Amino acid sequence: MRMQNDDSGWGTRDSGRAVPDHAEPGTSNPEPDTQNPEPRTREAGLAERLAESDRQPGERLYRVKAMWTTLQGEGFWAGRPAVFVRLVACNMWTGYEKDRQRDAARTGADCPLWCDTQFTKEGSLRLTAYDLADAVVETGAGVRFCVLTGGEPLLQADAALVAALRQRGVTVACETNGTIALADAFGSVEAGPDWVVCSPKLPEAQLKLEVCDELKLVVPDYRPEAYGAMAERVRPHAEAGRLLWLQPEDGPRFQEAARLAVDLALSDPRWRVSVQGHKALGVD
Ligand code: SF4
Repeated sequence: MRMQNDDSGWGTRDSGRAVPDHAEPGTSNPEPDTQNPEPRTREAGLAERLAESDRQPGERLYRVKAMWTTLQGEGFWAGRPAVFVRLVACNMWTGYEKDRQRDAARTGADCPLWCDTQFTKEGSLRLTAYDLADAVVETGAGVRFCVLTGGEPLLQADAALVAALRQRGVTVACETNGTIALADAFGSVEAGPDWVVCSPKLPEAQLKLEVCDELKLVVPDYRPEAYGAMAERVRPHAEAGRLLWLQPEDGPRFQEAARLAVDLALSDPRWRVSVQGHKALGVD
């Protein structure tokens, strides 16, 4: 691998799937919140640790915003050491402040109004599947569980990336908003990640994800009664059954949301309350 200065962006990628070029001159994500310093497990300065891949003809490059080792904070694998890979871009929001209202209106999702994840291409690196997988192994230093996240990771993740990770003995999980079918992203459900977590931001009728291992609804805005068919698409696991989670929205509405999540779970015990353990532990 070597460093590259070419900033030509998405237009140079040879992926069959369209990913918008969100970058516009003079725009960027908000300044870091100085009241909330970076969590201690986050790897700062991706470009300082890794070099961009040399690109061979026909070879696909994946834009990676961040890669760090931490604990999975939520859901079935809560507490498990994992290498998180944040891929650039989302299909709900460009990631730029000026586009929040426009994208909320365009998509019908409200998450562009409150999302604080940084997934724009500034500071990202372009890596081949093999270099990305090598970086996961190096970053993990023995951790062989990788979570592909975003943004919307299925805009970029594909069968070649999953295969490269699996070849290195890495179990692959992903977190998706459910708007992209696994067959479209990976060619088939089987070629996709080993573990899929869906946290919808659009009504159930607009979700294309065929199947998942966990369904996570952020209450109070997303309710079980609106995702009954999606809940049926969750693969049951031997002892755990179907993993259906109600996660209280963080922030000023947390107390109200937590009470609602508990009430909903107690009234319909197919659902469980998700506790964000990484926040209690001070990791991210
Ligand atoms: S889908 Fe997820 S990453 Fe994308 S804007 Fe909504 S909350 Fe943020």
